[in-house]
Amino acid sequence: MHIDHIGIAVKDAKTATETYSKILNTKPSKTEVVESEKVETVFFQTGESKVELLAPTTPDSVIAKYVEKKGEGLHHVAFEVEDIHAELDRLRKEGFTVLNDEPKTGADNKLVAFVHPKDNHGVLVELCQSKK
Ligand code: ZN
Repeated sequence: MHIDHIGIAVKDAKTATETYSKILNTKPSKTEVVESEKVETVFFQTGESKVELLAPTTPDSVIAKYVEKKGEGLHHVAFEVEDIHAELDRLRKEGFTVLNDEPKTGADNKLVAFVHPKDNHGVLVELCQSKK
């Protein structure tokens, strides 16, 4: 397992992209709209890991609600795993609350699933696996 990316919830993709381009002194490596999640994602490659900006594309997006409630900021930490199904089974057996019955297709051509922050000391954990 390694940290694949850190997800940051933002209000506006354009403004946040400008900010992070300055902080990281690089351009985004990729932008992608995930229609099913009503979210625009902007990735910055930072060594082996990435920063993922998450901006809502509609007012009823989960990210819009998150930002409204908690403000902008750290949203999740994503760990890349070899076999997401096996890891989710393992975590369920350990008593963790997995928020997805089945991994779904997220940004960056990955299968993703989330583990509830209440089980992780307040951090929403994403597991992801590259699609082959
Ligand atoms: Zn993510």
